[in-house]
Amino acid sequence: MKAEIFSIGTELLMGELTDTNAAWIAGRLPPLGIQLQWVSIIGDNLDMLSEAFIRGMERSDIIFTTGGLGPTQDDLTREAVAKAFGETPTVQEEVVRDLEEYFRSRGTDMPSHNIKQAHLIPSARFIPNPNGTAPGWWTQRDGKIVLNMPGPPGETHPMWEDQIAPHLRELITGEVTITRNVKTMGMSEGAIDEIVGEFFGHDNPYLGIYSKADGIHLRVIARAKDEASARTMIEPVE
Ligand code: AMP
Ligand code: MG
Repeated sequence: MKAEIFSIGTELLMGELTDTNAAWIAGRLPPLGIQLQWVSIIGDNLDMLSEAFIRGMERSDIIFTTGGLGPTQDDLTREAVAKAFGETPTVQEEVVRDLEEYFRSRGTDMPSHNIKQAHLIPSARFIPNPNGTAPGWWTQRDGKIVLNMPGPPGETHPMWEDQIAPHLRELITGEVTITRNVKTMGMSEGAIDEIVGEFFGHDNPYLGIYSKADGIHLRVIARAKDEASARTMIEPVE
């Protein structure tokens, strides 16, 4: 399954905010058997965003996004997905009630603009967000999946762990990729190359060598039908 990630927000393009969400998600895809092929940063612009979704769905099976789900006028992720799918969002009363309750429990009324967060298109379902006001969207149509998550890592991470990864595990039956890092100290890259040379040049398991500040790291990467089989392939190389 081919995937891409969109990190959405003009502040990311202006260098005011560092995109940590994409790397966080990227690191969780190989064990799920999802091949990440593209990562894009896109500003808060409806046309650019919907264009990105249309192009993304042409070349990928699944698009993960973070950001742009807030209540303000510049948060346009939902609108862009609706435009790309050609569907009209409608207000979902049960989510309006949840949002009203969220604000009531904090001693205030719901600002009228938050109604944006209760909109949904027919091909999408809400992904609950117990840590904030923006529910995610899980949109699935014509064999394509678009998963929109909120921007704040404190909301993205639990949503991923609790409500996205478990469903993806059920959905995806392809190969998984497992990685094992071996750190060395006090040896040069050339010396290590002499020892492990026979393992280079193979596709699966693949051996990579990386010079890092704390020594030379060796990385064994194996693809197999499940995690246990991949680990069995890594062990002898390790
Ligand atoms: P938004 O959902 O676009 O309103 O984003 C809300 C907040 O989430 C931002 O102000 C950032 O603090 C955080 N955030 C959004 N996108 C990212 C990202 N790609 N990496 C890390 N934090 C992010
Ligand atoms: Mg934003």
